[in-house]
Amino acid sequence: MQNIKQEFMDFLNKPIERANDRELYAAGQKLVQKLTKDLPISQGNKKLYYISAEFLIGKQLGKNLINLGIYDQISEILEAHGKTIEDMEHTEEEPSLGNGGLGRLAACFMDSAATLSLPADGIGLNYHYGLFKQQFVNHKQSEEPDVWLNEPCWLQNTDVSFPIQLGNHTVHSRMYDLDIIGYEGGHNRLHLFDLDTVNGAIVGKGISFDKKDIDHNLTLFLYPDDSDMDGQLLRIYQQYFMVSNAAQLILSEEKKAGHDLHHLDQHIAIQINDTHPTLVIPELIRLLMQEGIPMREAAGIVTNICAYTNHTILAEALEKWPVDYLWKVVPQLMPIIEGLDYAVACCYSNNPNVAVIDETNRVHMARIDMHFSHSINGVAALHTEILKNQELKPFYDIYPEKFNNKTNGITFRRFLMHSNHELSAYLDSLLGEEWKHDASKLQELMQYYNNEEVLNKLDEIKHNNKVRCAAFLSKKEGIQVDPDSIFCVQVKRMHEYKRQQMNALFAIYEYLQIKAGNKPERPITIIFGGKAAPAYTMAKNIIHLILCLQELIDSDPEVRKWLNVVMIANYNVTKAERVIPACDISEQISLASKEASGTGNMKFMLNGAITLGTADGANVEIRNLVNNDNIYIFGRSSDEVIHLYNTNGYSARSYYEGSADIRRIVDFITSPQLSGIGDISLLRDLQNNLIQKDWFMTLLDTEDYIHTKLRAIHDYNDREKWKRMSLVNIAKAGFFSSDRTIDEYNRDIWHLR
Ligand SMILES: *Cc1c(COP(=O)(O)O)cnc(C)c1O
Repeated sequence: MQNIKQEFMDFLNKPIERANDRELYAAGQKLVQKLTKDLPISQGNKKLYYISAEFLIGKQLGKNLINLGIYDQISEILEAHGKTIEDMEHTEEEPSLGNGGLGRLAACFMDSAATLSLPADGIGLNYHYGLFKQQFVNHKQSEEPDVWLNEPCWLQNTDVSFPIQLGNHTVHSRMYDLDIIGYEGGHNRLHLFDLDTVNGAIVGKGISFDKKDIDHNLTLFLYPDDSDMDGQLLRIYQQYFMVSNAAQLILSEEKKAGHDLHHLDQHIAIQINDTHPTLVIPELIRLLMQEGIPMREAAGIVTNICAYTNHTILAEALEKWPVDYLWKVVPQLMPIIEGLDYAVACCYSNNPNVAVIDETNRVHMARIDMHFSHSINGVAALHTEILKNQELKPFYDIYPEKFNNKTNGITFRRFLMHSNHELSAYLDSLLGEEWKHDASKLQELMQYYNNEEVLNKLDEIKHNNKVRCAAFLSKKEGIQVDPDSIFCVQVKRMHEYKRQQMNALFAIYEYLQIKAGNKPERPITIIFGGKAAPAYTMAKNIIHLILCLQELIDSDPEVRKWLNVVMIANYNVTKAERVIPACDISEQISLASKEASGTGNMKFMLNGAITLGTADGANVEIRNLVNNDNIYIFGRSSDEVIHLYNTNGYSARSYYEGSADIRRIVDFITSPQLSGIGDISLLRDLQNNLIQKDWFMTLLDTEDYIHTKLRAIHDYNDREKWKRMSLVNIAKAGFFSSDRTIDEYNRDIWHLR
């Protein structure tokens, strides 16, 4: 304790009272870096490289203090001098290295692998401006660069650099390292590659820039607009840059270790997180061939090393690149890719659905992954079944032994210990601290199922979190919410399949009810948050509807007392940590079969929220754990939805015309009240889409959703019942620790130890 304090004071170099928040943060960072130096890197005879286009790692300081076991000490030291640990943490910029669940999963996996002391490094790109920073202007999303690389920074410059051939010229990369500190455990690294010549000055209005200027734009943004050819070429340049660096780093480390490249598969494992890193397969084969290994053997070695995780069954996400584009960007890989295509065609020429290069001359990334890796996993039980029986059936028929399920998880260090100190400390007092290393121990909370004191305390903690969240929203977002209302929260990327529009329809339903004199049983606050892809018009229209509703209700004092709709700008990990502990009803309302897993659902459950959701993704596993009494499941099943798609059996218009309630609600989207606030053409587009197309079947489930949500709100007033439901959800959340997930990956796929 004395040591830590002295070291912290030395780094701060002035009395705590006189230091500003940024100086406290800088000293905290230096302290963490000093302590990290003494932590040995995790060792073993086999090492994992987790390659991912995204690592949505969140702020680092608080998490690192927790994992080093000094969070409470630092907190006490600061408080003795009139400061708080929040003062120290809030000036940190959140690294903008991810988009949504897939990137956050990669971050949770890094935390868990380090905690389990597994030798596992991450490899990705150092996007200077991230995805984008979301702002709301005139009730619409606008995009700005998300600047986060300010001093003092967690990234460490290294002298590692590789030559990378991009089209017809060669550039030299630069590797930056970020320490990954496990919880009372190991120490790994996240390697982020960059290009010294990249220059933010080329960015013009918003996030626009010259897409052809590869030397200056390569690592500016995650997922730059790919609606034209230049954008698609840039995506391929980025992907190749990432994986060529990965492959060269891996081979250089293996050579340094003195390992025989013919037996590389005994020493390394590669996890390919979605299709973005797919080109690592041909790139590794190419480099092994340069080392004198014949192509057939090289392909066999690489297949034994690589494993592929599928994250979605949405067709748009299964990348296919025209052969012409690849010849332009990665001519050095094309002979390999053609060789792989030929090898597949030799065995399966009668099966065009599994060809690497299809009849329209497009290279299918996921197909390369499935033929040339030894493991193909889905991310929740239902998702994996849909992959096997529907989406990837042709591959399951060929390679049944490759398919396996790894239900996603989340790190409890961030989404409980850091984000919800009060609950975390209370669980310690009830259960001891064992749950922090063995999350299944949370089940012991079940012994308090009828203990009034415990139930009341959990309820009090929830209320305190709502008060804290309300203060945060007021201070940082200028949004006022009532902590005594029931909090329904839907925070996640904006997408039609996630059906934020259905939640907005509920808000309209309630608005009309209140206007008609029917007040709800308790004031309701509906909280939204999420970014829309800049080119995704319909997702932006949904944001527009929500922001117009927010304004309509906010300016109507009579309604405002009973219903509040708010949208948080620029949803990210930091905001997730604020809003999730405050949630009563966790909205997980995707169209069944479309959400691969979800991880937001797990975070909410762990923090005592009750799920209102469809039988989709990991919601199914949540239901199995808590059973039907402690969750609200509604809507059509995935089988029914898949059947509707296969038979063209869904007509949105028939639902619109068939129900007076639905018609009234949907009509309201273009009412004078809303179009007086917003842009009638955007609202009309959204409305027409709902009636005429509705590809993600919103209206199919809307009535069931409204009734089920009203039932949940009613149950909330049975306080004793609700408190028990909340306790059960916390107690059963242990399964969703990413420590469990990583343990399964290691046991079934990586075999690191
Ligand atoms: C967990 C998380 C997600 C994923 O949420 P889903 O509801 O699973 O889509 C997205 N963004 C952030 C910032 C998260 O923390």
